[in-house]
Amino acid sequence: MLNLVIFGAPGSGKGTQSERIIDRYGLYHISTGEVLRDQIARGTQLGKLADKYISQGHLIPDDLMVKVLADEIDSHPDEVSRGIIFDGFPRTIPQAEELTRLLKERGTEVHAVVGLEVEDTELIERMLKRGRDTGRADDNPDTIKERLNVYHSQTQPLREYYHKQNKFHPVPGSGSVDHVFSHISRHLDNIDTESSSNANI
Ligand code: AMP
Repeated sequence: MLNLVIFGAPGSGKGTQSERIIDRYGLYHISTGEVLRDQIARGTQLGKLADKYISQGHLIPDDLMVKVLADEIDSHPDEVSRGIIFDGFPRTIPQAEELTRLLKERGTEVHAVVGLEVEDTELIERMLKRGRDTGRADDNPDTIKERLNVYHSQTQPLREYYHKQNKFHPVPGSGSVDHVFSHISRHLDNIDTESSSNANI
């Protein structure tokens, strides 16, 4: 069983690479952004609240996000037993600590974090293109700017957090989807899920 975090700035290719990883490693995909967009589309109370944060490029508060994640995990027991790819979570240190706790309670852990590294100028171009192609509401110039600020101030510190646990695997995220994926699979093929819990001892 492999629990993986796919990590990176907005527009770094987390969703695209997740699809490839799922095809090859059979993991269950939890994208917190997709969960929230689905709630918004269905007009639920959570969706209405989330929309206020998302449209401004801000993060949903940690306590709420942790509940959303725990619900996702617990409502798919068979699928998560294959291993999970977390896409868009954690985004803050408190979320990472809660993820450790949640998985520990369920007898498992985060085995590896793959970090997609892409320059801001390329991230902006990619998100503007995605906004034009898909109509995704938060892919507009003002919100993109704020999302990148939030990424650098609140999310990027997680690289160091997981690096200290010997779990962080940086991968250059520019270049073709195939090229980036081959780099990721080289890391994943070498992860020893039995001994990774001792990596930081
Ligand atoms: P994403 O699709 O991962 O880029 O997420 C889109 C938006 O959903 C983000 O800009 C946040 O507003 C919100 N969001 C998604 N995941 C999280 C999270 N783990 N913590 C807080 N907000 C989140």
